[in-house]
Order: sequence, then structure tokens, then C-alpha cells
Amino acid sequence: MTEERNRTECREREKTDIKSLTLQELREEMLVKGEKPFRGEQMYEWMHVKLVRQFDEMTNLSKTFREECKDRYHYTSLRMVRVQESQLDGTRKYLFELSDGNVVESVWMKYKHGNSVCISSQVGCRMGCRFCASTLDGLERNLTPAEMLDQVYAITRLTGERVSNVVVMGTGEPLDNYDNLLVFLKILTDEHGLHISQRNITVSTCGLVPQMRKLAEEKLQITLALSLHAVTDEKRRRIMPIANRYKIAELMDACAYYFEQTGRRITFEYSLAAGVNDTGEDALGLVRLAKPLRCHVNLIPVNPVKECDFVRTRQDQVRAFQNILEKNEINGTIRREMGRDIDGACGQLRRRHLSGLQDIGGNEAC
Ligand code: SAH
Repeated sequence: MTEERNRTECREREKTDIKSLTLQELREEMLVKGEKPFRGEQMYEWMHVKLVRQFDEMTNLSKTFREECKDRYHYTSLRMVRVQESQLDGTRKYLFELSDGNVVESVWMKYKHGNSVCISSQVGCRMGCRFCASTLDGLERNLTPAEMLDQVYAITRLTGERVSNVVVMGTGEPLDNYDNLLVFLKILTDEHGLHISQRNITVSTCGLVPQMRKLAEEKLQITLALSLHAVTDEKRRRIMPIANRYKIAELMDACAYYFEQTGRRITFEYSLAAGVNDTGEDALGLVRLAKPLRCHVNLIPVNPVKECDFVRTRQDQVRAFQNILEKNEINGTIRREMGRDIDGACGQLRRRHLSGLQDIGGNEAC
């Protein structure tokens, strides 16, 4: 990096990140600067409804005021560096560059009931799940609320279509970036912004118990998905290092608490790997955990990642696993594989970009 770029970046970091301010905070910010709070409302609309990419597009603000804003505030605007579109189902994977040169990936999926975007919550991840490509290089940094929002905004601008569902299931552990996640959710669902319904938002966690409990107390109407992947502590520890910290019994208590506080049922994510967690006994164990909570289960045949030696469960065995769930009155959906012909499970597009490799293995959407 050149000296000049370094200096510009440092200056940018010291500025207030205007797109990460809630409407209330922005009104107050304007008051402090001697402006009318109404100015804050105008700017909020430019940023979070009209989705403009820079201050200069805010045409009802004076040129002088816009110049002052450029001086005072950092304006987050992701730059698309790559897009891959599936010829099978129209799913698109986007790679976005952040202002510090880091890159994150997001996925756009078209369903009958509306468009869904899967966003990243961190650059990299420190959770170390054994089958996940996002964690291979560890955690680089948290994403700001504005960087999470702008994945949705940039995709809305690029596709010209409204996003109705948002899932926080891309790279990163959202509950490891708790405060920023909460601001992101607040702005995304705000009636003065894009106003995405809380019920159309899913946050997926590998199971950080204290944060799950804290989130429950926010009493949001979002869906919380728990990446379970194993039904005994011993097996879970082999797949997910976080299982060394929290036992399944503690996780189930936190899930029950979430339901109690919010009235929202938990979803279990269960990635199936051949010979690891896909036996009939595993399925019955899953029934025992899901039943008292009346959870929905998402079954995901594991996506092969070159650096990890997990092999996906065969299709017929996935079906058999699902049948055991259904026979025991547990709803189990086999995750539809979107964008089968485009590159990479979670985190693979970013890795491929960073290493400049032609192929990193695996060719399925996460
Ligand atoms: N950190 C969060 C969200 C990101 S991962 C979490 O753990 O839930 C989103 C989901 O994809 C998780 O259930 C994760 O375990 C799963 N996943 C990651 N890599 C995968 C792979 N290669 N194959 C199948 N599922 C994978």
C-alpha cells in the first residue's frame, strides 16, 4: 500500500461513519452541527431508501453542505469486483470490495415468494468450523452496520429489484459482531428505510450462548437459526471448536429461552457429511433435540471444500435421514441447492479471489 493511500485511509477511519447511524442518531448529529433535525431525515432517505452511492447524489442539499459532509463523514459504498450468475436458476454471487481493500461475498437468490440476499457479517471468521471455507484464514475484522447494509443496497441497485428476505449466513459469525449486527437490523427494518419485515430476516449462529440469550431479550421477530450439525457433545466438538465452550444442553436452554421471549421458533441447520453425522442414530438424536422446541430442520449436504476432508452424504441417504425426521413429526427441508453451476461454498469466492487461483474446488452455493 502506498503512503498516500495509508494516510487517506487513516483520515477516513477517524471520520464518523454516517451510514451506520440510526435515524435518531443522525437527527442528533445534525443538531450538534447546527442543522435542523429535518436535514437528518432528508439524508437518511437518500442513504436508506434512495440508496445513493455518494453525497453528490443528494441533490436537495446545497453544494457547500455536501462538501462539508465529505470532510466530516465516511460514506460507505461497496464496489462490486466480481459477479457470477447461475445459468440454472439465476442465483448470483457478488464479490464486493470495502474501502480498506478487503473483500466480502454476498448471494442473491430468486424465489417464487421474492428475492433473498445472503450477506456476510465479518471479513473472515474465527469460529474454526471444520468444513467451512470462511474460517480458513481466521478473522480479519468485523463489518460495520453500513457494510452489512450496503451488501443489500448494492444488490438492490444492481438488480433493480426489491429484496424481500435477508439471511445473515454468509462469511462470519453474526453474534460475534453483536452490536453492529443489532444496528444493522434496526436500520434494515426501520419504516423510514428499506423497511424489510423482521419476519423475513434470519440470523444464523454457530451457538454463542450468552449472545443468543441477549438477542432473545431484544424481542425481535427475526428467525434465529442454530448451526447444530451434531447431536452429541463429543461429535460436535470434532466438527465445531465452539462446542468446547458450550454444551448442547446449554444451547437447547438458550433456544427455549429465545422462543419464550420472542414466540419465534428456532431453525436447526444440519450439514450432512458422509460417515460423520448422517446415521439413523444421528437422525433420532436430532428428533429428540428438535421435538421439545418444535424446531424446523434444514438439511444441507456438505459442500466440499478443498482444504477440508468432508464428503457429502449421498442423495438417497439424505432422503432416508429426512424420512426419519418426518416419521417423527419433525419438519426437515433439504436445502435447495441454488447456483449449483457457480463457484464455491461459503467463503470460497473470496478465497479464490485472494489467492488468484482458477479453482478452489467445490461448485455449489452455500
Ligand atoms: N457463522 C454462522 C453463519 C455462517 S455459515 C453459523 O455458523 O451459523 C452458514 C451455514 O452454512 C452454517 O450452518 C454453516 O455451518 C454452514 N456451512 C458452512 N460451510 C459449509 C459447507 N462447506 N457445507 C455445508 N454447510 C456449510
